[in-house]
This record gives sequence, structure tokens and C-alpha cells, in this order.
Amino acid sequence: MMSQTKLLVATHNPGKARDYAHLLAGLPLAVTWLDEVGVTEAVEETGATFTENALLKARHYAATAGLLTWADDSGLEVDALGGRPGVYSARYGGPDLSDRQRYAALLRELAAVPEAERSARFRCVVALARPDGSAWLAEGVVEGHILTAPRGDNGFGYDPIFFLADYGASMAELPVQLRNQISHRAIASQNAQRILADLLKQESQHEKADQ
Ligand code: IMP
Repeated sequence: MMSQTKLLVATHNPGKARDYAHLLAGLPLAVTWLDEVGVTEAVEETGATFTENALLKARHYAATAGLLTWADDSGLEVDALGGRPGVYSARYGGPDLSDRQRYAALLRELAAVPEAERSARFRCVVALARPDGSAWLAEGVVEGHILTAPRGDNGFGYDPIFFLADYGASMAELPVQLRNQISHRAIASQNAQRILADLLKQESQHEKADQ
């Protein structure tokens, strides 16, 4: 009999787990998340890149839980800052800042940078790993530039200061549904879904061959 593959989404955030479960609803998968499988520890994100962090998390939790695992890492890269805050996006400016204080700190650091040099991108990497350590990577990028003052109330993090020329709006001014279609996370997820679909197809072919 064909069994349904379980996919562990490597997050302690139930909102994120729900979003991914919704996104992956079309695949023959049982989506679960860390707390549901009783994994309470948090892996330290010590990588220098989004790819390293996503792989680190995916491989760790896949080995711990013995399940195919999906992990992501994302953040903002500002060209005038040599790609910072990058993997430090969540911690930029200090550990206890609100989103608003964090983007205000970034605006201060960029105060003298002219508009033409304020290019930036949101990047997301999704890593898929099996308990044996084999892994696959998918990426999504959204290009934009950093405004001089915040605009809009939707979204989170750096959304109010990230301007998309194609839409004439900041990420925080886009309707949520549109934002969730074009985001770096959405693009990375679509690419990862294609990889997952191939993996599942291979597995079901193996199962058939074994019967
Ligand atoms: P995480 O990988 O989802 O934990 O994101 C790391 C950090 O990057 C967040 O805490 C935000 O500061 C920033 N970030 C990631 N994605 C977004 C986004 O879509 N909008 C705004 N900020 C983001």
C-alpha cells in the first residue's frame, strides 16, 4: 500500500507552519511542524549565508525527527551596505528592537546614500533535507530599493521601507494577497514545491517497483 510521505516544516511559529501547509495542499503530503512532532529545541543559525542557515536547519531537524524536512531562511540585502543586514536581518540594530525601530536604524545608516544607490533585495532560500543528509535548495528574490521614509501598514519587518518600482508601492502598501504571491518566500516556495513533487514521484515509483 502507498503511504503518505510526512513533511516536517522546520519552524516553531504556528503561523508559518499553517501558511506552508496551505501552500503545499496540492501535494500528496502530510505536513507537520516541530512542536507537533515534539521537537522543542531551536537550532542556532550560525551560517554566513541564507543557504547555509537553511541547510543547517533542514539537515538538523531531518536527522532529529527522521522526516523529510523543509526549512527556510530569509532577509534583506542592501547593496550600499555590501549586502547587510542579510542573515542578520532579524537582529539588525540590536536584539530587542521592534520592527519599526529596526527599519528606522537602517534608514539612519542609509541617510547619506542617494536614491540611485539604494538598491536592495529580499532573498529567501528553502532547503529540503532527508534524514540521511541528502538535500535540495530553492531560492526566491525580489528586487527593489530602500525608501527614505516608511510607507504602508501591511506586512512586517522591513516591508514599509522596501519599494517595488514595478508596482509603484512599498511592500507594505501592496494588498496582502498580491504581496504573498510575489514575495521572495512565495517564489522560493514555488521552486521548492517543484523539487518536492519530483521527489514524491520518485518515491512512488520506488514503491511501485518494490511491490
Ligand atoms: P525569517 O527567515 O523569516 O526568520 O526572516 C528573517 C528576518 O528577515 C525577519 O525577521 C525580517 O526582519 C526580515 N524579513 C524576511 N522576510 C521579510 C519580508 O517578507 N518582509 C520584511 N522583512 C522580512
